[in-house]
Amino acid sequence: MEDIKMVDLKAQYGKLKPELDAAFSAVMESMEFINGPQVASFARSLEQYLQVRRAIPCANGTDALQIALMALQLPAGAEVIVPSFNYVSGAEVVALLGLKPVFADVLPDTYTIDPASVKKVITAATAAIIPVHLFGQSAPMHEIMELAHEHQLWVIEDNAQALGAVYVFPDGHEVKAGTIGHLGTTSFFPSKPLGGMGDGGAVFTNDDKLAAITQKIANHGQAEKYKFSTIGVNSRLDTLQAAMLDVKIKYVDEYNTARQEIARFYDNAFAETPLVQAPHRATYSSHVYHQYTVTVAPELRDALKEHLRDNHIPSMVYYPEPLHLQEAYAYLGNKEGAYPVSELLSKSVLSLPMHSELKEEQLVYICQHVLAFVKKHG
Ligand SMILES: *Cc1c(COP(=O)(O)O)cnc(C)c1O
Repeated sequence: MEDIKMVDLKAQYGKLKPELDAAFSAVMESMEFINGPQVASFARSLEQYLQVRRAIPCANGTDALQIALMALQLPAGAEVIVPSFNYVSGAEVVALLGLKPVFADVLPDTYTIDPASVKKVITAATAAIIPVHLFGQSAPMHEIMELAHEHQLWVIEDNAQALGAVYVFPDGHEVKAGTIGHLGTTSFFPSKPLGGMGDGGAVFTNDDKLAAITQKIANHGQAEKYKFSTIGVNSRLDTLQAAMLDVKIKYVDEYNTARQEIARFYDNAFAETPLVQAPHRATYSSHVYHQYTVTVAPELRDALKEHLRDNHIPSMVYYPEPLHLQEAYAYLGNKEGAYPVSELLSKSVLSLPMHSELKEEQLVYICQHVLAFVKKHG
């Protein structure tokens, strides 16, 4: 059996090598490394894929969040609600821009932001909410948009982990996750659902005014050459990355489907044991399984991870410490117990190997080891 990897980028590259190498060579021939024609071409492909009016590429997913927030031109000190059980980017850019991160707890089943918790932390100073489509599944956007409407708040969807997931509104109409709020963002970090050969990101929106300011901010706030109408940043997607991504975007659905099949295999294997909680499938979103994250009893989690490692099975804890308890955000004064679901999840989650190239014999082997361990210790 081949070595099991958390993510297998090399096998993915192997399958697309002729196409990717040709796209790479075309950029090398042109030497147009900055803002070459591939950048605009990829932006149009992304708009098509997401069915969104405008996509603005930038340097990475964290920049995408920062630029989206800057486009909203919020007053200093305004509060922005972010989930505590999350990667750091959202809270980080809020703080960097002189705004105040306010944490909300997440739902125990989907691990995405909990509208009831959001409601509790809304104040007169709240200006925006950043729901995160964690692990490949959309946050409950209908409820979030209702709250936003009621309190006149902006919504930026962090879609770094769920590109291609479909959100279903209560009336049955479907849209791609990330295109529901005022702005959406994503990351093209190599392991993400659409991953480049380095860093990359994008902001998208159906609002032409927001698109125009977003585009300007990503390019130093330039209205026209050497005319700076607003403070901006230098955040470009390299032509080389755009060329790679314009090839790979054609295969996103194929990769997402392959991971969904692997998720079904895992789901079936864990269906009979209450000791391993398989990821919940929300009725309002498809799941593209950026991660396949199970929960086990907190006292078993680290031992299970070690057991798997001893058997050459990688696994990862996303995320081991909720943001409200991190040293960098201690100044906000949150105490242990403030967001109990985030705290419990950080002790009980474990992400198993998940990528489009996993083989059945590898899956069988992984599941056997997970089940044998929990049965012995449960
Ligand atoms: C990866 C990720 C980011 C940051 O993207 P980078 O391209 O690494 O800056 C932001 N939010 C979430 C939820 C992510 O998973």
